[in-house]
Amino acid sequence: MDLSFTDVANPLTRTGGYLAGVTSHSLQPYRGCPLGSSLCGVGCYVQHNPWLTRGRRWGSFLEIRQSTAQAYLSHAPRERRWAHRKGSRFSIFLASSTEPFPPQERRYGVTAALLEAMLVEPPDELVVQTHSAAVTDHRGSLLELSRRCRLRVHVSIESDRETLPGLPPPGSPVARRFDAARTLHEAGLETVITVAPLLPLLDAETFFRRAAASAGALVLDHFVGGDGTPDGRRTHRTALPAAMEAVEPGSSSPEYLERVLEIARRVFPGPIGVGADGFAARYRAGAA
Ligand code: SF4
Repeated sequence: MDLSFTDVANPLTRTGGYLAGVTSHSLQPYRGCPLGSSLCGVGCYVQHNPWLTRGRRWGSFLEIRQSTAQAYLSHAPRERRWAHRKGSRFSIFLASSTEPFPPQERRYGVTAALLEAMLVEPPDELVVQTHSAAVTDHRGSLLELSRRCRLRVHVSIESDRETLPGLPPPGSPVARRFDAARTLHEAGLETVITVAPLLPLLDAETFFRRAAASAGALVLDHFVGGDGTPDGRRTHRTALPAAMEAVEPGSSSPEYLERVLEIARRVFPGPIGVGADGFAARYRAGAA
């Protein structure tokens, strides 16, 4: 892993594309992602961004943006005014192109410092998106922050399978992510399981029952439409679709999402969202 340190001028990026209707801003405490070498990294949409990778293999580098918290405090008031002027809430997606709690976070504490800064200058809304069970290390700050802004924690669990043929294991095992979601949910945080992109499920009913015990809401998305192209062509350039088809023929087609959604609606008692609407908490009714 190639580690480097950078200072970021303004960590708040005004959103466009997929996230435009989700939050007003996104924020990346790191550039690059160590989980890029794990299962979620195989189809990770970010690897197709040449401006970000600068020719480096996805998962091979991590830039630690050590000034993130300080820069957030300097820029949040202006970005808040910008969002409010256009009639939006000052809402932040943390993070869309990195993992906010990579293993290096325990040593460098960039996201921890940012959450502390947000306690001083809270956004109107914060969406914490993670693939890591280490999010529970930050339960205290998240709870404190949830009293000052609308806060949702999205825990990504794309399948009940630990891996797919020929692909690496996940950075955080499925059971640990379910446990993490449950810990946050039981602590009273608004916790959402994001099944995005949906990977083939072994037992969808049991998966959604587990989800019901671990979160209040569910978001599903398929890489077709979810990877920023209408036909999933970015993901089709990776090894993910063939591995999905090897265990569940048809799962690389968006019709698979419809099939799974039907089961989710039957089993999951809470609200269910699909695609960008789901990430924005514009849910459809569940089974209740
Ligand atoms: S954790 Fe997120 S950003 Fe990192 S590789 Fe996985 S999907 Fe991509």
